[in-house]
Amino acid sequence: MNKNSQKTSDNKRDPSKSPLLEVSGLKTWFDLKRGIFSRRTDTIRAVDGVSFSIMKNETLGLVGESGCGKTTLGRTLLGLETATAGEVFFCKEPLLKLSRGRMNRMRKSLQVVFQDPLSSLNPRMNIMDIVTEGLVQFKMLEGSREQHARKLLGEVGLDADMIYRFPHEFSGGQRQRINIARAVSMRPDLIICDEAVSALDVSVQAQVINLLLGLQERHHLSYLFISHDLSVVSNIADRIAVMYLGRIVESANAADIIEDPLHPYTKMLIAAIPVAGEKKTARKIIKGETPSLASPSSGCRFYPRCPEAAEICRRRPPPEIRQNGRFICCHLYGGFPE
Ligand code: SF4
Repeated sequence: MNKNSQKTSDNKRDPSKSPLLEVSGLKTWFDLKRGIFSRRTDTIRAVDGVSFSIMKNETLGLVGESGCGKTTLGRTLLGLETATAGEVFFCKEPLLKLSRGRMNRMRKSLQVVFQDPLSSLNPRMNIMDIVTEGLVQFKMLEGSREQHARKLLGEVGLDADMIYRFPHEFSGGQRQRINIARAVSMRPDLIICDEAVSALDVSVQAQVINLLLGLQERHHLSYLFISHDLSVVSNIADRIAVMYLGRIVESANAADIIEDPLHPYTKMLIAAIPVAGEKKTARKIIKGETPSLASPSSGCRFYPRCPEAAEICRRRPPPEIRQNGRFICCHLYGGFPE
C-alpha cells in the first residue's frame, strides 16, 4: 500500500512542466463579530499565507492537528470559502477570479471526497442516481445511467447489482467507495480528499487507500490528501506538507519527511505515530494546546510548544528556507540572527 518513494515523487516533478495546481500566498481570514452592532472583535487567520503546488498524477499530503486550517484551505480551493488574499492557478486558470458560471464548469475537474461518507450522500437517492448525478448535470452521459453506474461501481470494487440500493444499506467503507465513484465519474484532474479515511476502521482505511492509488494509476489523477494522521498520509503521498496554525512549516518528499524530519513540529508528529503494542497518542506526546488562530505568537507560532525554542523564536518570525526540493520554516535552519 505504501507509495513512499522519493524516485516516484521526483519523476512527477518535471521542472519543464507547469503544475496542475499552484497556490501562492493564500489567506482565508474570518472576522469574529460580537454584540448587538456586530462589531468586529478579532480575526481568525485560518489560512495565513500558504503556498504549494501539485503536479499531474501527484499526491500532496497535507497534515496537521485539527484546527490548523487544513480543511479551510481545501474548502477555499473548492470555492466553499472566500479567499482573503493570494492566487490559485488550476489547469492554468486563475481559480479565485473565475465567474460563478466558469467556476461551476471548473468543478468538473476539481472533485472532493469528504470525511463523513453518510452525510455526503442524499439518503433519498439510490446509488445509480448519486454516482451519475454529475454526468447528467454536465451532459456527459454516453449510454444509459444504468450502464454508467454499473461501470463506476465496478471501478470502486462494489457489486454492480447494488445500483438500486440506498446509502443506508451500505457500510461506512462502502459508502466512501460510492463517494469516490461519484468523484471519479467526472474524470477530474484533481480530487481533494478531506479526512476521507479518518472515519473508517484501520483495515478499511488500507483498502480505500489502495483503491485511491489504483484509480490514480488508471486515470492519472492528482490528490490533495488532507489528514490529521501522518501515518495514513505517508501511505499515499508523494510529497507531504505539514501545517501548523494556518501556515505550512515544512514540506518535502514523503520519504524525506518520514525518515528525516527537520521541523520540531514534524518530529513530534512522527514521534506520535502509534507503534504496534505501544499506547501513545498525538495528544500525549505533543505537549500543550494549539494556540488560537486569532492570536498567534508574533515570532514563531510554534514557540509556546517547541522543545527546541530559543529566545529569538519568541521575537522574530522564522525564515522560510528552500533547499534541495525541501521547504522549512524554522530559525534552527536559518541561523539565529540577533
Ligand atoms: Fe522551534 Fe524556534 Fe524552530 Fe519555531 S523557530 S520551530 S520555536 S526552533
